Amino acid sequence: MLKTERDEIFEKTGQRREDFSVCMGCKICASVCTLNDIGKNVNPQDLLLSIFLGHIPNDHSIVTYCTSCYRCVESCPWRIKIPEIVRAIRERSKGDLFTRTFKSSIAIFGRAYEPYIFFRILPFLLKKGYLRYLPRWIRYMNFSFPPFLLRR
Ligand code: SF4
Ligand code: SF4
Repeated sequence: MLKTERDEIFEKTGQRREDFSVCMGCKICASVCTLNDIGKNVNPQDLLLSIFLGHIPNDHSIVTYCTSCYRCVESCPWRIKIPEIVRAIRERSKGDLFTRTFKSSIAIFGRAYEPYIFFRILPFLLKKGYLRYLPRWIRYMNFSFPPFLLRR
């Protein structure tokens, strides 16, 4: 069976899906959430509900502002770990290996620097057997010095 985004989130929390599906909608988590003390008007249970409905709300206020204080977990009758869901969504939204590698290349070198990218993704290429295409790629790769060494 194909893994859904929702399954991926639950997997990243290190919990079982059933650990979250027991939520009974009592909203105790909302009544104790630290973010409501500073006027964010959030309901952690909403986040859970969205995920069960198949929508991963990357821009939900809780995803943005949750402090991982665990007040919601301590008060929840089922000890549902909402902050672990938040952590999993944040982790996932950092992007896949390629996105992360391109971003870090731009942060370090100011551009997509091919040799750096190649070595960062090497374990993935080895694992997936893509190295057989190496001779073809080499024609397109620019094995020059890192750009900052060429600057004065
Ligand atoms: S306190 Fe727990 S059971 Fe109640 S709504 Fe929040 S997550 Fe669900
Ligand atoms: S861990 Fe996050 S969601 Fe839970 S009470 Fe604290 S700020 Fe709110």
